[in-house]
Amino acid sequence: MDNKQLWDNVLLEAELSLSKANFSTWFKNTRIVKQESGTVYVGVPNEFIHEWLASKYNKLILRVLRESSDSVRAVEYMIVSSESKEISAEKKQAAQDKRIPGMELPLADLYINREDNLNPRYTFDNLVIGPFNEVAHAGAQAIIKRPGYVYNPLFIYGGTGLGKTHMIQAIGNSVKNSPEKKKVYYITSEKFTVEFVNALKANRVNEFKEKYRKYDVFIMDDIQFLSGKDKTQEELFHLFNTLYENNRQIIFSSDRHPNTLTGLEERLKSRFGAGMIVDINIPEYESRVAIIKHKARLSNYSMGESMLQFIGASLECTVRELEGIINSVICQCRIKGRDLTVNELKAVIKNSVAPKKTVSVKDVIHIVSEFYQIDENVLYEKTRRKEVVRPRQIAMYLLREDFNISFPTIGEKFGGRDHTTVIHSCDKIKNDLKTDGILSEELTQIRSML
Ligand code: ADP
Ligand code: MG
Repeated sequence: MDNKQLWDNVLLEAELSLSKANFSTWFKNTRIVKQESGTVYVGVPNEFIHEWLASKYNKLILRVLRESSDSVRAVEYMIVSSESKEISAEKKQAAQDKRIPGMELPLADLYINREDNLNPRYTFDNLVIGPFNEVAHAGAQAIIKRPGYVYNPLFIYGGTGLGKTHMIQAIGNSVKNSPEKKKVYYITSEKFTVEFVNALKANRVNEFKEKYRKYDVFIMDDIQFLSGKDKTQEELFHLFNTLYENNRQIIFSSDRHPNTLTGLEERLKSRFGAGMIVDINIPEYESRVAIIKHKARLSNYSMGESMLQFIGASLECTVRELEGIINSVICQCRIKGRDLTVNELKAVIKNSVAPKKTVSVKDVIHIVSEFYQIDENVLYEKTRRKEVVRPRQIAMYLLREDFNISFPTIGEKFGGRDHTTVIHSCDKIKNDLKTDGILSEELTQIRSML
């Protein structure tokens, strides 16, 4: 079998087992350069691809090579400049960009409008859309066209740093700047609470009510912080009804699905379900690459395609974390006057990413009790109250499933319970998960908090 046929086998297998984007990123312009005493030398266009193939796909490559040819024992990668034209064009572009004096004013420094609390930096032009947020984006676009008449309320939920605030403020800015001149108001649930409590104290609740009832589009961010604030919730409930009846648009964000929001009145929750509930996820590979490109463009730095893809592939993280790392990378590139090498890049990434902390049994119990808003200590006690039994079972289940802790040890940690009790608890949750969508949402949430 000649080099070409041999490599074609690898390409075929890689194409079958990788996503299209991944395949073309890492295998484009690769080939077998030579074979020498059982070692296959694979030529790659640059060191990023060298690093990625050697660390992620070496096993696959070696397996296919060996299956195809008995004489293959090892594989090595070497950089060959078949791409030299492309690279030099990339470099030239980068060099040109470096001549642009200084940077644009950081957008974050733009002022926040006191009238509506909107930050003009949050626009749809600045928001990268991909599979991770496209449903929320579609809902947003529909609302902009006819605020108050479709999807009311719009409820967007997802973990922190995924772009909820950006998305809902972008709706606000978009409606505000449209010719109809609708009145938009953005507020976080915490600020709303403070304002309401102050109004109560000062005997100015009527003024407060009046103010809020005049908006065409009312946006409340991070609604999870209303948990346990009964008076404020009641006020929001009435405000909601008035706005809703008058076809005013209402938009909420939260860090979790409304069904799993604890400490929130049922009647308020059921209102959320009347419109559209959508989530925003962690961006996948292609979206991460698009976000990196976008951010690099904003800071006037043209990054080589290879470095960009390498960053995107290395980091499964939130948009906010991605932003932080890109800023550090670009800063380093500017200092050096060139793109970073693989090792330099790895160092920046290592310094920027907070190490995943190791989680203890106590941490799990703490997070679970926090999530269900019960006193951590009662989980250890023998009480059989329903609101305690369930979280306790969930904590046991997580310890078993995710941390592989033995049944007797779990029993011991929970105030000396018998291991059969623990087994029963884990089975119960496992079983319930088959039919209980809310429970599974809750578990996802709790896991993301660990
Ligand atoms: P959340 O409210 O979900 O915690 P933010 O809206 O504050 O997240 O987003 C965190 C940062 O990431 C912000 O600087 C925001 O501009 C940026 N960001 C989030 N999503 C995107 C996206 N899809 N495209 C570009 N930037 C984004
Ligand atoms: Mg936010």
